[in-house]
Amino acid sequence: METISVKVGNIFIGSAHPIVVQTMCNTHTSDVQASVDQCRKLAAAGAQIIRLTVPSLAQVENLKEIRNILRAEGIDTPLVADVHFSSEIAIAAASVVEKVRINPGNFHKDHDKAREQFARLVEVCKANGTAIRIGLNHGSLGERITNLYGNTPLAMKEAVKEWLDMCVENDFYNVVVSLKASNTFVMVEAYRLLAKQMQEDGIVFPLHLGVTEAGNGDSGRIKSAVGISALLSEGIGNTIRVSLTEDPVNEIPVAKYLADRYDHLLHSTMSSLTLDGKKAVASYSASSRERLILDFACDFGKRLLDKELDEVVLADCEEGEYLADELMQAARRRFYRPEYIACPGCGRTMYNLEGTFEEVKRRTAHLKGMVIAVMGCIVNGPGEMADADWGYVGEGNGKVSIYKGKEPVLRHVPEDEAIDRLLELIENK
Ligand code: SF4
Repeated sequence: METISVKVGNIFIGSAHPIVVQTMCNTHTSDVQASVDQCRKLAAAGAQIIRLTVPSLAQVENLKEIRNILRAEGIDTPLVADVHFSSEIAIAAASVVEKVRINPGNFHKDHDKAREQFARLVEVCKANGTAIRIGLNHGSLGERITNLYGNTPLAMKEAVKEWLDMCVENDFYNVVVSLKASNTFVMVEAYRLLAKQMQEDGIVFPLHLGVTEAGNGDSGRIKSAVGISALLSEGIGNTIRVSLTEDPVNEIPVAKYLADRYDHLLHSTMSSLTLDGKKAVASYSASSRERLILDFACDFGKRLLDKELDEVVLADCEEGEYLADELMQAARRRFYRPEYIACPGCGRTMYNLEGTFEEVKRRTAHLKGMVIAVMGCIVNGPGEMADADWGYVGEGNGKVSIYKGKEPVLRHVPEDEAIDRLLELIENK
């Protein structure tokens, strides 16, 4: 899909440019040394753009320091400030880094006030050559939009369109858009609707793709590959982030695989395929387990999502049944275990998210079909966990909130008791 070309420092996104691989630090931005170390590792691993969270105005100074150290070392990977809630932080960060990500669901509830805030941000971005990502998430849709359109892909498209119209009103086009969701079906539909709308409107902004809160391990990789590949295979998407609840360095080879595959630099290792109605049986000659998983997810994810296929079988593979179950679940066609929503963690995370998520998974594995979220922070976690039945949300200071749907049912639970309390609540529901 032909798009506008957006400049983010020394990287171009959109138009005929190759798909750009990006990631996000999970360090505290206030810990400058740890953030610099992680940026070095991410840049060396192949990240072309790196995002850092900026939760307070004071941390804009930390961001500046991180940028200065990296630039002095010759690391010129563009940096992005991830900003929620405060337009003032976004405006301050816009003169420090190459791109600012805003979450429109977090701008002022009064649309006119949000317009004023955004116009001020655009002025600073124009003056500094800074790009903006309008990063809308399924879980943080505003009340006004959900009252009109429900909690749907259409609502996501409509919400973001208002902001793109504001970009045009402000004559500002250095803009990338994302519409992430943890649910692959919702995510794919939202991006498709937006792509169609932008083509009709005649101004096509580049799209940043990602499945948010995808989790970790095989399921995180498969879920991300299903959602992202479905869109890239249709020519939708210009930059990608694979969000894993792991060391962000692990995200890069997965994202690089997806970028290379849809830039036509590599092909599936599928060695045989038999179709029997809506059932596919395939085998592979992949050189690694990760490659097999990604090839399988990309070859069949979209066809399952779009119901062109009802069943897939991975033949000649000891783990065939397990990987086919994972793929069916990632494409939301059959649930054989609980569905987990887990954020990747960032500078707002105040506890051992990876370890806790593994423990929650281990102790809830029997709850087939239930949706359980494990979120890194109380600021964004509750809003971002979308359609979870239960949520484990870190408050900081060793405390946890437990949510049933959108409602907190226990607050300030000590971390070492929180999984027990969660399970008690689920069992006594
Ligand atoms: S929900 Fe997770 S990734 Fe999102 S801001 Fe909070 S800690 Fe960071």
